[in-house]
Amino acid sequence: MKLVMAEVFNSWQGEGGSVRGSAFGRRQIFVRFAGCDLNCLWCDSKEYINASRVSRWRYEVEPFTGKFKYRPNPAKLDDVVDAILRLDTGDIHSISYTGGEPTLQIDPLKVLMEETKRLGFDNFLETHGGLPELIKGIAHLTDYASVDIKDETAKATEDWRALVLREVESIRILKEAGAKVYAKLVVTSETKIENVRWYAELLKGLAPLVIQPREPIGISQEMLMAVYREAAVVMGRRNVGLSFQVHKYLHVL
Ligand code: SF4
Repeated sequence: MKLVMAEVFNSWQGEGGSVRGSAFGRRQIFVRFAGCDLNCLWCDSKEYINASRVSRWRYEVEPFTGKFKYRPNPAKLDDVVDAILRLDTGDIHSISYTGGEPTLQIDPLKVLMEETKRLGFDNFLETHGGLPELIKGIAHLTDYASVDIKDETAKATEDWRALVLREVESIRILKEAGAKVYAKLVVTSETKIENVRWYAELLKGLAPLVIQPREPIGISQEMLMAVYREAAVVMGRRNVGLSFQVHKYLHVL
């Protein structure tokens, strides 16, 4: 079972705001997988997108020290579990499986999620949600999930509408399996209100939505309020919130 990793580290969860299912402000161990099948304009993990070019992965020696050790890819599952255990500071809310896109490597992801559950951790899945048929295999192991709704302006893929529908299907699968799941929409000054209405209609009654301005923030307050209002009118005022990448302001990973 081949596993291509990017990094393992301990940090604060900076995203998600205050909606149900968010782990904002919680301490997590992040397990970042290499490789992604999308190509978002503002991807902040670009160096990990092409898994075949990620020849080694790193793990933090001690939390927040910035000191890393490196291991070759493909990674050994035991080494990843070992890195997680070394970084367990006793105050860990959950293990965040992130990327890249972790579900692309569904078999090793499943084994790791089973192992971290066995060790007593909760699992938090950060996914673009574009692969619902794979998500079915790990939904029962997922306690929390942040699933992207890719806005048209992300230019993530050719058939953007089909991607959004698959993302919503992933949310449905995770929710039905018992995960606390929310949708994350990154917005820009180019985001269309009519698209926001469509996402909100798809999510209504299904999962809350966080609206996250693309960093560095270029969207005006007026526009952000209009996007928020549109979503809240459709979905209900308790089901929408803002999210910012607070870890960037804290200068942590
Ligand atoms: S889905 Fe995430 S990892 Fe993949 S290209 Fe988009 S932002 Fe980057």
